[in-house]
Amino acid sequence: MAEKGGISVQTEHIFPIIKRWLYSDKEIFLREIVSNAADAETKLKHLVAVGQATGIDGDYRIDVTVDQDAKTITVEDNGIGMTDDEVKQYINQIALSGALDFIQKYETASSDGIIGHFGLGFYSAFMVADSVELETKSYTGAPAVHWVCNEDGEFEMSESEREARGTKITLHVTEEEKEFLEGDKLKGILTKYCGFLPFPVYFTDAKAEAKEGEEAAEIKPINDVEPLWQKMPNECTDEDYDQFYHKVFWDNQDPLFHIHINADYPLNFKGILYFPRLGNEYRSLEGEVKLFYNRVFVSDNIKEVLPDYLLMLKGVLDCPELPLNVSRSYLQDSDYVKKISAHIVKKVCDKLAGLHNTDLEKYQSFWDDIKIFVEYGCIKDKKFYDRMKDIVLFKTTDGNFVTLNEYKKSEGAVDGKIYYATDLTQQSVYVKLYKDQGIPVIVLDQLIDGQFINVIELNEQNTVFQRIDAVTDEISKSDGEETEASPLSELFAQASGKQDLKVKETALKDATIPAILNITEQSRRMNEMAQIYGMKDFHLPLEEILVLNTENPIVQKIGNDKDSDTAKAIAKQLYLLAVLNQRQFTAEELQTFLEGSYDILGKIQ
Ligand code: ADP
Repeated sequence: MAEKGGISVQTEHIFPIIKRWLYSDKEIFLREIVSNAADAETKLKHLVAVGQATGIDGDYRIDVTVDQDAKTITVEDNGIGMTDDEVKQYINQIALSGALDFIQKYETASSDGIIGHFGLGFYSAFMVADSVELETKSYTGAPAVHWVCNEDGEFEMSESEREARGTKITLHVTEEEKEFLEGDKLKGILTKYCGFLPFPVYFTDAKAEAKEGEEAAEIKPINDVEPLWQKMPNECTDEDYDQFYHKVFWDNQDPLFHIHINADYPLNFKGILYFPRLGNEYRSLEGEVKLFYNRVFVSDNIKEVLPDYLLMLKGVLDCPELPLNVSRSYLQDSDYVKKISAHIVKKVCDKLAGLHNTDLEKYQSFWDDIKIFVEYGCIKDKKFYDRMKDIVLFKTTDGNFVTLNEYKKSEGAVDGKIYYATDLTQQSVYVKLYKDQGIPVIVLDQLIDGQFINVIELNEQNTVFQRIDAVTDEISKSDGEETEASPLSELFAQASGKQDLKVKETALKDATIPAILNITEQSRRMNEMAQIYGMKDFHLPLEEILVLNTENPIVQKIGNDKDSDTAKAIAKQLYLLAVLNQRQFTAEELQTFLEGSYDILGKIQ
């Protein structure tokens, strides 16, 4: 005797709501139905393991079949199955109340795509089907049950002929949603959500099968039943990690390095994160973290688990503590997610420290790729800075890598001072002066370096960065004084056209250089900051100091003959040459320099 009932009794509008609300993410119906099938297998496997089910063959499998002629999608498992009472309890009541809960909770929420991240379990089948059939036979051997429900929520239950253990769910797909009957599309969805389920999942396209007939190649499961992240790190080789990366992220380049996370209590999540090779060519900096829930794919780009300076990471995270139906707003507010994020940051630092300590060559080889992210992280996150500061590398002008401590301890280093160059061509005169002096100089040639050194100065005592063209202390024999009032200084101030030009007379250790132009570290940095923050109108004049080398014969010569026109012309030219060594000419300076040069050349006999 068939038993009839009406799910619509309390929930008249449930099915229209399911259809309307989940509009943006209908494909999750397949995830819900297939993961129920996998759960049914897991439950049976467990019962076998604890001796409560006997005589069960271990050939667990899930079959998904699409049949365009019959307009059906079927999902069949050989799991635990359900008895008559269980269908009533689990499908008519529990599954329904799950769906109801969802609707009550989110009835007021707008349908903005977020909604698609909530699942409805079994009843999500009605997003694409107007009637759903279920045939099930419990592992206990109780009579099999046939249950069918239409889109108005009316169901009919009767005994079924089914002999095989397990459950077969048949979705009669509506005309509107017939795109889900396309084999390739359905297989794609299945692979996306169920590609790592622990039981083999086979996909059959009835149409393709009919075409190929007997010749059909041996069918392989669409999934990888043993995803790499589930293994212990010591069971996996570098090659395994790389292969997994290529397969999951469709990136044919090898990643720079990977981090395998196997956190148990209290966080309980697993995952593998990769630092992609970004290289110089244009590649999107945006990474991708796929979130899984017990191997079932949940969501594609879970930015919430990474701080923004690690957003280029790619990887998979399996978080069984997160609800399968997780929303973006939940992720943003969740303490658990914050803890995951902190754990990931710690793991990234540990990995880098480990590489630095055990495989320095490798660490150095990809430093250029990770530098910018590490520096950005240090700027954004004090904890990250504290963990990383001892392994941040700086490149010296000789092309060697040093840490801050190594720099400080290196031969020739000046206590508390870190000398740097930002442009090896522009600052080549200074680079040579420092080199001759045996003082190590590091290269900081990226925009972010300026902010990064501010952070170091703030956090480290007795550490000041100075660009090599900002000071002459280390390359002078004597300290030298600013001598605005001396006649020679006045000559140069006049020649430069800047009456207030500061001039310093000092004995540089290299006598061949007549004059150099210093720009104070502070005024230069202020201007750079203003540019970084887009303050176009902010123009603090750069504090320039012309350093005259009293050891230089030309300077000495004009010093003896200050009032002559030749001395003036030479002073002007020397000033401009000093500018040329420091920065780009303005148009006016270039013009004056060219005219002066022609003039001088004209005078040579
Ligand atoms: P959930 O899976 O979150 O519990 P569902 O609505 O998806 O909610 O399913 C409700 C219940 O129906 C499940 O908990 C399970 O007991 C039962 N069920 C669903 N599908 C199957 C299946 N393929 N085999 C056995 N039981 C099933």
